[in-house]
Order: sequence, then C-alpha cells, then structure tokens
Amino acid sequence: MLREGASAMSYIKKILEGATLLPFVKLPFAGRPPAPDDQVRLDLVEFGRMLHTQGFVAATDGNLSVRLDHDRVMVTPTAVSKGMMRPEDMVIVDMDGNRVSGCCSPTSEIAMHLTIYSMRPDVSAVVHAHPCTATAFASAGLALDQPLCSEVVVTLGEVPLAPYATTGTVELSDSLRPFIPEHNAILMANHGVVTYGHDLRKAYLRMEAVEHFAKIVLAARQLGCARSLDDDQLEKLFEARSRYAGNAH
Ligand SMILES: [Zn+2]
Repeated sequence: MLREGASAMSYIKKILEGATLLPFVKLPFAGRPPAPDDQVRLDLVEFGRMLHTQGFVAATDGNLSVRLDHDRVMVTPTAVSKGMMRPEDMVIVDMDGNRVSGCCSPTSEIAMHLTIYSMRPDVSAVVHAHPCTATAFASAGLALDQPLCSEVVVTLGEVPLAPYATTGTVELSDSLRPFIPEHNAILMANHGVVTYGHDLRKAYLRMEAVEHFAKIVLAARQLGCARSLDDDQLEKLFEARSRYAGNAH
C-alpha cells in the first residue's frame, strides 16, 4: 500500500515536472507559426465531431467544407471519421477540385460542394451527412415539404428531395442543381442530406434542424393526423420570414 502510494506520488511529481507526459502532448499547429486558415481547420474538426456525436454520420461518412476565398476551399479528407479528424488532415482545393495543399485526398464528394459554391455566392460553408431519420425520408422518396411546424417554415423552409444519382459523380451535382438556388437544405434520394450557409455554424445548424424536423414529421404521421398549417397561417409566417431574412442569413 505504502509502495503504491509512493509510486503514485512519484508519477504525479513527474507529470507536474513535465518529465513524463508533456513531451507526448501534441498541440495543434505546434512547431510552426500561426497561419490565417488555422481557425477554419479547428472549426472543421469541431463541427465534424459534432456531426459524429449527434449520430449524423457513421464510420467515415459525411464531409464538410469552407470557402476560404474566391479561389480556394478547405475540405475534410476522404476515409476519415468525422469524429477523429485532426486540423492537419484538412485539404485545400481550387475551384476545379485540384488539391492545392494537404497530405490527404479531399472528400470524394468535393464536386457537390464546388457546385453549391459556384451557384451560391452567398454560401461559404457546406455540410453533408446521413442523419438517420432525414435519410430515411430520402430513402422512402419523401421530401420534407409539409408545413407542420411554424419555426421550420420561418427558418428552414421546404426541404426538397433531389433525384437519386451515384455518389461522387457529375450526375449527383446535376441532380442537386435545380434546388440549390432556392433552398439551403436538400434531401438526396437514397443517400443523405446536404445543407449550406454563410458560415459553417449556420450550415451545421441547418443539418440539425433538418433531422429534428424529420423526427417531428415521422412522429406526427405515426399519430395518424399530421395537420398542416393553412394558407392564411402560412402567409403570416412568410411575412415573418421576410423580416427574419433581413436580420439573419
Ligand atoms: Zn454521403
């Protein structure tokens, strides 16, 4: 007992002296000066971890990106869990998808991200994930377009369903094109969800909102009497949305 206590004290003393553990503690960006894009790397790690924690992705599913400037996008790497990414894993590509910097390969869905950026100058971040309930709607061929919740009408609007296309192909980007200008969240048939916004936080929150709304729609339909808001109620909400749009993105 005495020996164990003495050993523990010795171990703690070594930690406090920094002799045992500190050499193995790896700080982000250690060994080089700060760079302008460092915060974006940290944000991608953080929101990737949130996607994973929420159960919106499994294994190496999903991808996130941020537009850095007119010519460059920082994107998550392919084949890495969104819950285990490191800042240095991020890849920078040009607007044609060519890697500009980074050791990893960019996500195979990079074309989808670049299509959204090219069509929406106001968008600076894109999030793609496979949240269970919303993806179930997408796999059942059902859009989330029934006006059931006033808050969703104001903040998210209809979430359309884009036709199925093979992942990582031009056809996938083309299937989204008709919906990108007028929507900030799209269900991808038999696949998942893509959301976007003026920053990563907004794009991520829209993903949360889509999945939350999908759960509500499912529950309301299970109850057997999902009652839509009527035209008069919707008109008042559209007015509220116009005012809201003036204060938020
Ligand atoms: Zn996907």
